[in-house]
Amino acid sequence: MILFLFYWGLSFAARISLDTHVHYQTKGNLEPMTYRARAVTPQESRQHFESVANQPNLERFFLLSEAYLESDLAAAKQRNIDILAVSKNSAKAIPVCGISVKYDFYQEVLQHCLSLELRGLKIHLGNEQALLDGMVLSRIIDIAIHLPTQQKTFILTHFYYSTTDENKNVEQTQNLIALSQKFPNIQFIIAHAGTGNPKMIEDIATFYQQNPSMLKNIYLETSTLFDSFHKVNNEFITYEGYSLKYYRELFYNFGLDRVLYGSDTFVTNPVNQREIDFLTNSGFTTYEQDQILYYNGIKFLASLAL
Ligand SMILES: [Zn+2]
Repeated sequence: MILFLFYWGLSFAARISLDTHVHYQTKGNLEPMTYRARAVTPQESRQHFESVANQPNLERFFLLSEAYLESDLAAAKQRNIDILAVSKNSAKAIPVCGISVKYDFYQEVLQHCLSLELRGLKIHLGNEQALLDGMVLSRIIDIAIHLPTQQKTFILTHFYYSTTDENKNVEQTQNLIALSQKFPNIQFIIAHAGTGNPKMIEDIATFYQQNPSMLKNIYLETSTLFDSFHKVNNEFITYEGYSLKYYRELFYNFGLDRVLYGSDTFVTNPVNQREIDFLTNSGFTTYEQDQILYYNGIKFLASLAL
């Protein structure tokens, strides 16, 4: 009987997700930054938000402010204000600050986010090929040291990987390790883990295996990954040539309890159900699927004492 109830609890949870990566176009336009970019009207934005917010299987989601796209401080602040207002339309939405380290007013955007009590930060590195180099590291440190220390928070960011300069990649991995050690109270989420940055994910997973007491505050967020596999010779592989089996093992080695589900809807993935369907048929057990889709996110939120 107990076993039966336990199993029922798990299969019930399998239908629930917590999405740690959702966008909303407060300006009604979508910058040409992704391969699926297109113009979006304010009405489409609103409809999209409502379809996400009303999804019965979704319990909570991070709603990212795209203030980081603005080169003007007033416009960036307005984006944060807008995302806070939009998030008030759903108890499921958790509004998240957006900061670009490309613009010198990043500290002012941070102070604005803190005054609005936005939860956590998405830090944008400036362009699609950005690496965690010395300049980016010093600006992230400059942001992190100004965060309130009494509660945990998170920084979500998307790192890429150099295909031409291995030294830059070594430096980037070292910088990420340094960040995670310098700020143990901050949870670092690597967005799109495995997409655009497969070698970086491989390097930190390898480092973790050799240093299992470290990197505990680094999470891998999987938006876009489960949407990027295609079948070649009876095997699912990404466009960069990494197999599903490879990522499953990497996640096991890194710790499946630090793998998060994110949809990136609707910048790269207008229909997040497709990703969930792929994930639920990708060889993970029901319990492991529940971890990625839900339990890890819930634990993550609890650790932030929201
Ligand atoms: Zn995104």
